[in-house]
Amino acid sequence: MRIVLVGPPGAGKGTQATRLAEKLRVPHISTGDLFRANISQQTELGKLAKSYMDAGNLVPDEVTIAMAKDRMEQADAENGFLLDGFPRNVSQAEALDELLKTEGIKLDAVLDLEAPEEEVVKRIAGRRICRNDSAHVFHVSYKKPAKEGVCDVCGGELYQRDDDSEATVRTRLEVYHTQTEPIIDYYKVQGLVVTIEAMGPVDEVTQRALKALKREDDDK
Ligand code: ADP
Ligand code: AMP
Repeated sequence: MRIVLVGPPGAGKGTQATRLAEKLRVPHISTGDLFRANISQQTELGKLAKSYMDAGNLVPDEVTIAMAKDRMEQADAENGFLLDGFPRNVSQAEALDELLKTEGIKLDAVLDLEAPEEEVVKRIAGRRICRNDSAHVFHVSYKKPAKEGVCDVCGGELYQRDDDSEATVRTRLEVYHTQTEPIIDYYKVQGLVVTIEAMGPVDEVTQRALKALKREDDDK
């Protein structure tokens, strides 16, 4: 399956993507995680991306699209992928359509995670991620690690993302409403959007997502 996940920052896209990717047996491709890996490896792309990310703004389309394309063209993504955080504006959605057209493939669904603003702000404020792998995500109240500050998965150090500060979160939400939300209408025209409620326990949200994608049998 080829799926795009959309929703405000903190809605739980990364959390759900990890679980859905495993059940659907496709790679989870997060452009935010790819940028963070570049930052920790101190690449030129990482240096460029960091200034935009720390301000809560989008990294320019040209480099973002090239990075996403490169990742989607890797062998493990041949039979499907779950895109998390890409596309994030209409130009990126158009670029993705072009790329898919060239390859003769289509998206199966755009899964839209809905959550009220006060909830996503709480989720972001308490989010802690692992230095070794930003896909290892915890929360100070909702998903406490067994040992404070230590990743349950790999023992890495947990830290708060620079862009999860209160001031940056406001910009990110604004950017989401003005630049990212329009892609939902873009994909509605293509009949691809399935919307689910992202409130409630993580497992329940996963169930809802699988049901919406008509893949309940994958949860066996
Ligand atoms: P996104 O990728 O959309 O920015 P994350 O998956 O990183 O969001 O989730 C943001 C924070 O909220 C994380 O700390 C995560 O542990 C927590 N979280 C995710 N889903 C839920 C949920 N259903 N209930 C409570 N907390 C959640
Ligand atoms: P995320 O991990 O999805 O919350 O993304 C963190 C930050 O990375 C965003 O606030 C942007 O600065 C940057 N980013 C991630 N994906 C994209 C994208 N598709 N286009 C532009 N910037 C992105």
